[in-house]
Parts: sequence; structure tokens; C-alpha cells
Amino acid sequence: MNQEEQLNVVAEEEGDASNEGRVPPFQTPKGVHDILPIDHDFFTFIKKVVRHRCRQAGYKRITTPMFEFTEVFKRSIGDTSDIVSKEMYTFQDRKGRSLTLKPEATAAIVRSYIQNNMSQLPQPVELYYIEPNFRYDRPQAGRYRQFWQFGFEVIGESDPALDAQAILLAQRIFGDLGIADSLKLQINNIGDMASRAVYAEALKDYYCGKERYLSEEDRGRLLKNPLRLLDSKHEDTIILNQSAPKFKDYISKESQEFHDEVLEYLTDLGIGYTENPTLVRGLDYYNQTVFEFWDEKKGAQNSVGGGGRYDGLTELLGGQPTPAIGFAMGMERVIAQMKRNKVRVPSKDDLHVFVAQLGREAKKICLPLIDQLRENGIKTMGALGKGAFKNQLKIADKFKVPYCVLIGLTEVREKTAIIRNMKVGTQVTVPFSKVVEEVVKRIGKENLDVYDPKDPI
Ligand code: ATP
Ligand code: MG
Repeated sequence: MNQEEQLNVVAEEEGDASNEGRVPPFQTPKGVHDILPIDHDFFTFIKKVVRHRCRQAGYKRITTPMFEFTEVFKRSIGDTSDIVSKEMYTFQDRKGRSLTLKPEATAAIVRSYIQNNMSQLPQPVELYYIEPNFRYDRPQAGRYRQFWQFGFEVIGESDPALDAQAILLAQRIFGDLGIADSLKLQINNIGDMASRAVYAEALKDYYCGKERYLSEEDRGRLLKNPLRLLDSKHEDTIILNQSAPKFKDYISKESQEFHDEVLEYLTDLGIGYTENPTLVRGLDYYNQTVFEFWDEKKGAQNSVGGGGRYDGLTELLGGQPTPAIGFAMGMERVIAQMKRNKVRVPSKDDLHVFVAQLGREAKKICLPLIDQLRENGIKTMGALGKGAFKNQLKIADKFKVPYCVLIGLTEVREKTAIIRNMKVGTQVTVPFSKVVEEVVKRIGKENLDVYDPKDPI
């Protein structure tokens, strides 16, 4: 090796030491994000609220697989919908079968209803879910490529009272989450297939000659499914939509009566609503009642949740004709709304005690002590590293624990431990055998976190 080569090796080694030449740190792909502990407090709270409300109403939880045959979603949601035309994560498995990551839950649940003969159960079948969805959406605030949804479905019966009851359940959940007052219910009736087909022709006539104002995407919608234009996010189309023919002039008498009855029940229940004749929703399987909850200041761009009736979907997927209604809300959008409303989430995660130690002998004592404290329902963190007492106490301060247990060389020798009140700064020395009892006394029996396998889930 000549001198120049030797210098290169030295330079490379030095580069290594100063971080150069390392693999650049990985980032998440665009549009997906970690749910960090701070947001998990919100997630846990939301799950608690929805489980409680669903339990009260007799719903049972269901989880369908993360992926399905692509056809399940294509047939349900519709070829011309945003989801199917551009948002699905579709791939082939090793045998060349086309599979798709679940972009929404309803189609999969209806597939499951048919596959598992749920029509044999007492009807309606009431199901709820909490799970991630995947859509190749344009990432921005409140719009991700993996996001979580809570939702529920009522399958097997049709009556305007069921629609009102579904909306009420959503409303109650928003109430428990502290965001009901900031959301406004938008509601519409999109009728049945026959009247929608006539209406689609009227929309086509209206837009013919106005193509130059439409984006390429909306021109495609005009050709394939003019109703989708009403769901457009393009500004010019939104303006044109305001003067477009209204569905109320094409709705059948039965649908109008159904709609009026839903509204009457809502009024009786004291639920405020805005009738929104351009609300069509992004999925083709809906009929009759459709609804969304919007933050009034943000409008359609930030629908927190929505749903509707989908009486034709079961048949579309190969089952018997079965009426149904469902609702789904985006958990990330709910969390954002809770944060905007400054909703505080109660957490049970706060620690009770921090155990600090010094030396190997102390550690030997601390390991079983920490275990015993936890067994007795004391939420305990043990600093089992090599830091000095002072540094360990600084960390304890950061965790805002009310008490510290300290075991140093003297305490090991004398078989004692120090219990320090972190708020007041006072401390007492107690015999080692009394530590658990003394800590329990200070924390209070009612605050202990004890696992009881007999607790109902
Ligand atoms: P949008 O019109 O905002 O695209 P959507 O009509 O596609 O919504 P739905 O399919 O009805 O939405 O899904 C129900 C809820 O799921 C929405 O109200 C929203 O809260 C949430 N949601 C939908 N897409 C996303 C996404 N890409 N990121 C985060 N949440 C989403
Ligand atoms: Mg969408």
C-alpha cells in the first residue's frame, strides 16, 4: 500500500468515526406515520369510548383481514370512485392473484357476513370495528396513506328509525369525545338506482358544454359517472355544482317519504342537521340516507366521519338482498378535532414510584422489590443502570413520580430503604420488609393498578 492509499484508509476510518459513510437514517414512506405514546393516549381513550357505547347498544366487534381479493372492493366501491380508480394498494401474490390492502371496512364486513352465514343469526346483525385502512391519498393534514377508522354496521333490516338510531350512536360517541358541539351533521337522500340513473342523465346534460371548466379528472367523471362530480374537490366544479340540477326533483315518492321520516326522528331526538343536496359520498354502494359530520369551519375537506345506507351491497357481493346501514370515522381526524377543542384525555399511565439504587448488591435487592411493588399494583419504574443517585433522581423528577425508593450501600448493609416524597422533598428510612406496605399506604389502595383476570373485558 503506498502512502496515498494509506492516507485514504485513515481518512475513511476518521470519516466513520465522525458519522460520515453511515447508512442515512430511514424515514417512514410518504403519508404514513408512527403513533407515538402521546397520541396513543388519545387512541386508547377513543377505543374506550366507542367500546362502551357499542357495548351499551349490543354491538359485537369484528376484524376482517388486512387484505382481500381486489374484486371485493372493486365491485363494492365502484370502478369510477376515487378509491378504486386511484387510491388502492393493489399487488399480486406469488400465485398471481390480485389482492388489495383494505381501503375501507364495509365491503370486507359484508363479504364476511355472507361467507359466515350471518343471515342465520337474529337480524339485524350489529358489528363494530377499529382498524387501519390504506389509501393512496394525497398526503396533507388529516389525510394519510395509512389511517385508522372506527365504524359500525347494522345489517339485515331497513327502517328510517334504524338510520336515525345509527346517527344518534355516532352523535353520542362524538359527545363522549368532547367534539359533538363543533361538528354539524350533513344529511341527504340519494334515492334508489332507478331515480339516480335519470338524475345522472340530467347532470350530464347540465355539464355538456361546460367541459372546459372541468379538470381532466372531472371530465372523466362526466363520462363514466356524473354523480361523482358532486363529490369533486376541484374549486370550479364545486361552484358549478351549486347551480346543477338537484336530486330532490328526481327523487321517488318512497325515498322522499323515507327521508322525511328519518328527519322527523332526528328532530324528535334533538339532533340538529343541515340538509345538503350535494352530499353523495365517495363510495358507489350507498343508497337512500347518506350523512357526514363536518367541522363547520372546515367543511367537506375535513369530514370527521360519515355513513349511509347500502341496501344493494350484499347482493352485489353474491348474497341475498339484505338492507344495511353503517358509519365510519377517521381516528386521526377525530384526534385533531379533540386537540383543536382542547379536550384533555385522562391517562392511567402515570407512574407511582421510581426505584433508584447504587451498586451491584443494591441491584440484587431492587430487582425483586420492583417486581413486588408491581405485583401489589404500584406502577413502578426501576433505574437499573449505572448512574449516580443524583442523576437517577433527576430522571425521577422528569417522570413526575410522587415517590422514590432509594437503596444505596448503607441501606443494603442495614437492610433498609429510603422512601422519598418527591413533591415535598422529605424522606423516611424504613425496614426493607416494610417497603411495599409503606408505599401502598402512601399511594392509597384505591389508586392501585391491580390486574384481575376476573374483570370483564
Ligand atoms: P374524504 O372525502 O375526506 O376523502 P372519504 O369520503 O374518502 O373522505 P370515507 O371513505 O367516508 O372518507 O371514510 C370515513 C372517514 O375516514 C372520513 O370521514 C375521514 O374521517 C376518514 N378518512 C378518509 N380518508 C382518510 C385519509 N386518507 N386519512 C385520514 N382519514 C381519512
Ligand atoms: Mg377520500
